[in-house]
Amino acid sequence: MSNSVANHEADVGGRMYAHATELFPICRSITGKGVRDTLASIRGRLPNLRVVAVPSGTKVNDWVVPDEWNVNEAFVESLDGHRVIDFADHNLHLVNYSVPFTGTVEREELLRHIHTIPDAPNLIPYRTSYYQRNWGFCLQHDRLDQLVDAEYRVVVDSTLEAGELNYGELYVRGRREEEIVFSTHICHPSLANDNLSGIAMMTELARYVDELPDRKYSYRFLYVPGTIGAIAWLAGNADVAARIGGMVVVALVGAAGPLHYKTSPDRNERVDRIVRRVLRQGEYEHVVRDFSPYGYDERQYGSPGYRIPVGSLTRRPYGEYPEYHTSADNLDLIDAVTLEESLRVYKDVVNAFEREEVYHNRYPYGEPQLGRRGLYDQLGGGTTAAEDRMAMLWILNLSDGSHSLTDIAERSGIDESDLRRVAAILEDRAVIDRGMNVG
Ligand code: ZN
Repeated sequence: MSNSVANHEADVGGRMYAHATELFPICRSITGKGVRDTLASIRGRLPNLRVVAVPSGTKVNDWVVPDEWNVNEAFVESLDGHRVIDFADHNLHLVNYSVPFTGTVEREELLRHIHTIPDAPNLIPYRTSYYQRNWGFCLQHDRLDQLVDAEYRVVVDSTLEAGELNYGELYVRGRREEEIVFSTHICHPSLANDNLSGIAMMTELARYVDELPDRKYSYRFLYVPGTIGAIAWLAGNADVAARIGGMVVVALVGAAGPLHYKTSPDRNERVDRIVRRVLRQGEYEHVVRDFSPYGYDERQYGSPGYRIPVGSLTRRPYGEYPEYHTSADNLDLIDAVTLEESLRVYKDVVNAFEREEVYHNRYPYGEPQLGRRGLYDQLGGGTTAAEDRMAMLWILNLSDGSHSLTDIAERSGIDESDLRRVAAILEDRAVIDRGMNVG
């Protein structure tokens, strides 16, 4: 390894942190220029990233892509022109998707449009109003005392007009059509752990996968606005969804804390077994939780019409840290060392998918007739014969395209090297195969 490559690798944590820092000031939402600027920044690191535009008004399954939202400026000022709340100071001050509004309002009316966190009086909350047309401001609770005037002038110079929804997609082709997919949301404004840590880490993961020699699987990396973006992608990609062998929703990977894996709806998909093994074997401090239909886009990808085998791997879990969705989720909350460890875990997941061998039983309708193929004779005599027969029966039963030999070893208690030897014989007799390669 040359020195420059070593430095490049050594500094991956710093590079992810720098990417998050670059993206932090941008006012993102589910649509608009902030999303496009974010995707442009990612494309600077992943030149093959495809940026997709879905026009406002497009029906995507049960949803309709909303009008595009952009902000020029937004503030509240006293009638003598003193600004008391200003979007320019922090983009969290404006409720995301606030409709345009200009006018003088009484204090009581203004207060009805202001959101605070009484329990965390020095933090600005993050609020959205995507599908309910309204305007509002978010403020530190202990600044409410400053609003003593009878009337204020409110300016929300935003636009909510026909435009487009954008998402980014990187496809990395492997030998097989079957895909391993990673997805992260890209719709939060100046918030670091949720969600810039996910964007920065997944970008480095994509670079890593793109450089993997002789990939077995094809990979896809999705950068989508939460909910509507995932649904828009699904609506246009049912064919892709059907060939996803495993998927992980990436988020909350930059703030220190134990790793949390939330399983797929079916709990025991291949991705669930792989992530559990990676966390256990890497001796990472971790917690595994059963699926619940809340959190990020795992509930879209895992919805019954698609049932993609999807889990979510975070550090602190969704919503369960005090800085969550507040101005305290800033660049001080995340760090390069944590990002780097998270990346290592995700790379381990990719490598496990690549390394573990999965077979398909070519005679899955009842047991293939083994005697006719000389398979009992092939497997030697004495005790070994009985053991190898059990290995063979385990392989035949669980070789459904989802269970790897590692899974079968774990489940059966049979040594993986024995399974490998027996599988080679079965493969040689064309009873099992490794699935179809692309082209
Ligand atoms: Zn969030």
